[in-house]
Amino acid sequence: MASMSTFVDFFSKSKKQTFRPKKKFEPGTLRYSLHKQAIASLNSGINLREVVRLPPGEDLCDWIAVHVVDFFNRINLIYGIVTDYCTDETCPRMSGGQKYEYLWADGVNYKKPVPLPANKYVGLLMDWIESQINNESLFPTKSDVPFPKTFIPTCKKILARLFRVFVHVYIHHFDRLLAIGAEAHCNTCYKHFYYFVKEFDLVNSKEFEPLAELTRRLCDTSNVPRQSTTNEVSGKNGMVL
Ligand SMILES: [Zn+2]
Repeated sequence: MASMSTFVDFFSKSKKQTFRPKKKFEPGTLRYSLHKQAIASLNSGINLREVVRLPPGEDLCDWIAVHVVDFFNRINLIYGIVTDYCTDETCPRMSGGQKYEYLWADGVNYKKPVPLPANKYVGLLMDWIESQINNESLFPTKSDVPFPKTFIPTCKKILARLFRVFVHVYIHHFDRLLAIGAEAHCNTCYKHFYYFVKEFDLVNSKEFEPLAELTRRLCDTSNVPRQSTTNEVSGKNGMVL
């Protein structure tokens, strides 16, 4: 119980460690009610594998948009738990153990993939995602504005990049999650994320390799739709974009 109260204190008091404002949906819009519906299903404790399914009559892009924004906010909070412990010294590279390292490139300021300390990489990654989801033409907040053709490919990229934050946090900072009793929360978020991206085939299976063991333990991996093998990932020092 002591660790739980530490965890609650962290989320209620620590503004600093959430480190960026949450993206919100405007009340009264369709996406706002979808967001509420998704949260309500989650809080009711029902099967995560079922809550990710597209509700009958709802638009797939709307459903994906609300989840991408929610996962962005939640994974930000999870990284916030470890941010003080993820420094240039402790984590000079954005890695997932010895075997996996992610290089940063954004095609603008970083044209060629470069190794970075994990905190810098995650900061750039979150800034990049924030700029995508705050871009009205990409993530329109009014339901009468259509989504662009680039919407799904962009969401795939956002989700693949968010997954790498799970990789780093689980492999390098799990002790910190345990110390404040946040591991159950993180596991729930991970499972929800996993079922969601599998349901709509949004993240390539290869991305999951660093957390394959964890995924097997936490998630029901049977009968999950098979991924295509189109590959934006290579071996060590790969996994670039
Ligand atoms: Zn770190």
